[in-house]
Amino acid sequence: MTTLTFDSLNPATGEVVGRHPKHTAADVDKVVGRAEEAARWWAALSPAERRRRLLDYKAVLTRHMRELARLVHDETGKPVADATLEIVLTVTHLDWAARNAQKVLGRRRVNTGLVGLNLVGTLEYLPLGVVAVIGPWNYPVFTPMGSIAYALAAGNAVVFKPSELTPGVGVRLAELFAESVPEHPVFQCLTGLGETGAALVADPRVAKVAFTGSTATARRVMAACAENLTPVVAECGGKDAFIVDADADIAAAADACLWGALSNAGQTCVGVERVYVVDAVHDAFVRELSARAARVRAGEHYGPITMPGQVEVIRRHIDDAVATGKVVTGGPGAVRAPYVDPVIVEDVPEDSPAVREETFGPTITVRRTRDVQEALDLANASAYGLGGTIFSRNTRRAADLARRMRSGMTAINSIISFAAVPSLPFGGVGDSGFGRIHGGDGLREFARPKAVSRQRFPMPGMNITSFGRGPADLERLVRLVTLMHGRRKR
Ligand code: NDP
Repeated sequence: MTTLTFDSLNPATGEVVGRHPKHTAADVDKVVGRAEEAARWWAALSPAERRRRLLDYKAVLTRHMRELARLVHDETGKPVADATLEIVLTVTHLDWAARNAQKVLGRRRVNTGLVGLNLVGTLEYLPLGVVAVIGPWNYPVFTPMGSIAYALAAGNAVVFKPSELTPGVGVRLAELFAESVPEHPVFQCLTGLGETGAALVADPRVAKVAFTGSTATARRVMAACAENLTPVVAECGGKDAFIVDADADIAAAADACLWGALSNAGQTCVGVERVYVVDAVHDAFVRELSARAARVRAGEHYGPITMPGQVEVIRRHIDDAVATGKVVTGGPGAVRAPYVDPVIVEDVPEDSPAVREETFGPTITVRRTRDVQEALDLANASAYGLGGTIFSRNTRRAADLARRMRSGMTAINSIISFAAVPSLPFGGVGDSGFGRIHGGDGLREFARPKAVSRQRFPMPGMNITSFGRGPADLERLVRLVTLMHGRRKR
């Protein structure tokens, strides 16, 4: 095995949190080989046995919640309370995936229709084998586990390559799994930099790649996967919009908006970045938002910018927004690396980087709109389409707007509430990626449908799939199909 190492650092203090191997292509080769064997063993267990093991893992994670939250805090800088919340959510997802895997994926009969009257059709979803999970650093437990828990529950082995900023968390997640499943390395963690991940996704024995990270890296990962026709689920960035309707509860909307934009220092893929407020309540909303923002402090309510390079992106967006819009809160002085204080800017042109590109910092742009339709049009005019929020007292209008929002998920009168509902799928459209984690769709994402049709008896007078077929056989079929499908509806 490799002897080269790298350090994970506390972004707030620069202290070394841990030292980890830089796994090489040769290490990847060995680990994927072991995963293949483990995958066969895991897939051969009964669904009840897998469920028992996963529920045990859930208990182990829950019992180690404080230790894990501390490690997340040390590697990302986020407050321990936020890290704890992330683990609580992870546990609920793991519980749902374990309990629902058999129901969603297990064998069932399907209706075979009149033409298939003599057939029995069964459908089940079988494991893929080895799933490679590439994760980001911003929610180092919740985000990768959205793929890992569902992939394991679907009967696959997992090889996880965490971000180089949060390797310790990844290593610990796999170690704790081994307490519940000691026999085979069903869930392994590889550490290293981008090259380690690149070697992993290029391995032809990997049956599927679950990638979470930036759109730019997703393109590189897909290019590598194209070589082996390896399917990919891509959970990428976002530029989520927050719409405030004329009849919204302004205090609740401002509270939710602020938390959605500033918590985790804005380093949330479904964080609020753009706010569109209907004219009638615009001034009241902005007043409320800025009053509340004045009480939020970087370093107290949220942590530092985890990835040092991101500070420059945030600075560029703030400078651009301040130059073209009207400052409500903060300004260029808000950047005190590694911390960034809250920044709210109004009337920033829609074609500027601060409105178009993912900022991934504690910043908000606010725009006044004529009505909710204009708000929705502007929200939808983005290359990204991950999440979004609508605040309105009119639940019918809110539901209609949510449906027409070009995003994978929309929360109404709450912030990112969809992420806390394990049965709801999570994923984006456009530059935010494709495929889904969480829920039944998230389980099926890591399985292949297996269709079986069994003939119970020969269909009398309709011997279609045989060279012994006569003209009368076909004629009877045509008559039956015309009877069934030939009537026009006007
Ligand atoms: P990156 O795209 O920089 O990295 C993501 C992961 O890919 C890291 O583990 C990285 O490893 C790895 N990687 C880098 N290069 C390669 C390669 N060539 N082949 C394989 N793997 C590679 O994203 P960040 O870590 O900076 O995460 C932030 C981004 O993630 C934001 O855009 C955010 O919106 C998005 N995100 C999306 C979520 C979603 O569910 N849709 C959830 C959370 C975040 P290393 O770090 O070692 O370089």
